[in-house]
Amino acid sequence: MPTILNLSYNRSNVPFFLKKSYDFNELARRWGEVATQTGLQNGCYTKWLGLMADSVGAQGGCLIFEGEVKGCLDGRHYSYHAEDCAKLIQWLEKHKHSITRRQILEESQYFPIKIHSLNLFLQFQGDVCVPLFGCHGQLAGFLVFGPKQNNQAYTPACLEVLEWFAVQLSPLLENARLCEAMRRQQTEMDALRDLKSQMIANLSHELRTPLTSILGFTELLNEEIDGPLNGEQKKHVREILGGGQRLLKTLSALVDMAKMEAGQYPLNISQFHLGPILEGVLGEIPFNGEIDLDVSLNGQTPMVYGDLQMVRQIFRQILDNAAKYTPRGRVTVAASRKGEMLEICVADTGIGIAQEKIPCIFDGFYQISSGLTRTYQGPGIGLALSKKLVESHGGRLWAESKPGQGSQFHFTLPLKPITIRHKELAA
Ligand code: ADP
Repeated sequence: MPTILNLSYNRSNVPFFLKKSYDFNELARRWGEVATQTGLQNGCYTKWLGLMADSVGAQGGCLIFEGEVKGCLDGRHYSYHAEDCAKLIQWLEKHKHSITRRQILEESQYFPIKIHSLNLFLQFQGDVCVPLFGCHGQLAGFLVFGPKQNNQAYTPACLEVLEWFAVQLSPLLENARLCEAMRRQQTEMDALRDLKSQMIANLSHELRTPLTSILGFTELLNEEIDGPLNGEQKKHVREILGGGQRLLKTLSALVDMAKMEAGQYPLNISQFHLGPILEGVLGEIPFNGEIDLDVSLNGQTPMVYGDLQMVRQIFRQILDNAAKYTPRGRVTVAASRKGEMLEICVADTGIGIAQEKIPCIFDGFYQISSGLTRTYQGPGIGLALSKKLVESHGGRLWAESKPGQGSQFHFTLPLKPITIRHKELAA
């Protein structure tokens, strides 16, 4: 028996499928009801089949789309062998209308496709096969319905109804196909992203361990613990130290990024003033003598809630960039209350960024000057990581800039604990 849908349409006593002629307005109304009720959720195929089978009084029905059995009304798992029905499929593609088992058995014109048609009807215990077409008019699948409940033959009117349904079904099937493809793609992308994060984390760990001992021994040499160095040797040892520390910074940023993407970066929340953090960070950054620093945070600036280490990391990255990309001029740091957030602005009068490049600098692994002639060093992940760190506090990081005039980096941090959420960071 077909699935009887719980819809409020059967107002007359005569079952719909026993009526002499079909009211296509009524069919359209029912179809609209079912299509909007079910959407493209699980089980949509059987709901659609249920309505179609009910409308013509068919016992059972199956929907085959793009070589796959998508749904069957009796819930059985039918197997489908396209090669056993190849001639019927070619016929449907060419003639573009339904065909019944009775026609195959009784009409000689169907003799060339008889075996392949009977194979299909046997596979699905069907009596009628209705082709389904894709958006470019290609045969995309078919519907097979079992014998009628009253054991009578499918009339031309019934076939017309089923073909009408097949036309209504086409855009829905196309949408379902696209949704499935998108879901598959999303799953593949998630798996690739996890793999990338895992690879970065493993590789960085493998590199960080020997690098730490290289740096340790280089520091011993630099401190001349094993004996004095001559001028040239000292110069070389300092070069090794500088390069090694840069490499270590890059590796740490890569590990942090991978952890963030894998959602393994828990926040350790406390309430604090930004002033002391900023003071510490500014002491670590090598601003050249041609830059004026103007910091207008003071005791009046409200305390924020956040992870102190992460906030320190955000400041260090943005101020490092301000120092790096400002050959001379001014760097200012200011903060102002914006509702439940504190907005911090780090402005410089450096080289600036072209408008169209601004969204790219937060993507990760992006440097504006690239290639062998690069003027500025850097792996291009600092801002991407900072953005993730700010967002993990429920804040926002953005930039405004004009080439040749300078850049302003703004970010917000919460003033109330309630706004903090450690959201799923895997973008
Ligand atoms: P990097 O390690 O390369 O500095 P970031 O993620 O910190 O990576 O920055 C990405 C890119 O954004 C940089 O390569 C640079 O081109 C641009 N950028 C960042 N900050 C500034 C700034 N203050 N002024 C000009 N350009 C900047």
